[in-house]
Amino acid sequence: MVDRILFLGTAGSKEAVGKQLKGSGGIVIESGMNQFMIDPGPGCLAKARSFGINPRANTAIIVTHTHLGHCNDLNALIDATTLGGEDRHAVLLCSKSVIEGTENLKPLLLEEYKEQLERAIVLEPGKKVGINEVEIVSTKTKHSDETCIGFKVYAQNYTIGYTSDTQFLKEVAEQYNDVDVLIVNMKEPLMGKNKDCLNGEDVVKILEVIEPKLTVLTHFGTKVLMDPIQQAREIQRSTKCQVVAAKDGMAINPTGFARSMRQQKLKQFSEETEEGSE
Ligand SMILES: [Zn+2]
Repeated sequence: MVDRILFLGTAGSKEAVGKQLKGSGGIVIESGMNQFMIDPGPGCLAKARSFGINPRANTAIIVTHTHLGHCNDLNALIDATTLGGEDRHAVLLCSKSVIEGTENLKPLLLEEYKEQLERAIVLEPGKKVGINEVEIVSTKTKHSDETCIGFKVYAQNYTIGYTSDTQFLKEVAEQYNDVDVLIVNMKEPLMGKNKDCLNGEDVVKILEVIEPKLTVLTHFGTKVLMDPIQQAREIQRSTKCQVVAAKDGMAINPTGFARSMRQQKLKQFSEETEEGSE
């Protein structure tokens, strides 16, 4: 199997998701024999079928927070993954809000679907989880679901980062300094206003702090959706970093963006983090 990142949807704002201006099924990462489905928003199963993804092959499901566009179809996805619980497998990695809820948000995961999983693990920033040969490290965000997490996927030959929803903070950007491919949720365009998420200028600021080989923009609001390619071009022009706008159904092979020395770094990483891994 060729490793790839596949976008099951690129809509981010409530209006873009509500009108299904683009899909909202989340992201799939296929790495070696592992399949990760990330942030299964409304229509996840339909988009998975459209783009040839079989949820039964899921190794893990990752849900970064409980805003509807990221998690609405989680229970249905677990049911599809485990064949209604007949084949208990797959791990859920998620924010605290998904399982325990917060002061303002009820837990999203229903007990009967939690029981269908092999395991459900709450991720807090800095937590490391090994899944087969892949290491997942959660990162912090600043978002209205305060338990929201981003994460990095350390595969053998490359590292992928996913910001999830967050405001810009230098320390948030710095967490991704070792990624090859960075997936950024950019709900607002250049000059866009929404304090709870990233706009075009914030992405420029991130790319002034770190230099991934490739930055992929997704999770768009209606203003970005007027011309996502133009937004990506302008950000690329001002940062001199390679930036693309995701499209529904777009697939990227992360291996093509791997830095040399990756393997050595990975070895160093696993030595440093033997303690506390799970
Ligand atoms: Zn959100």
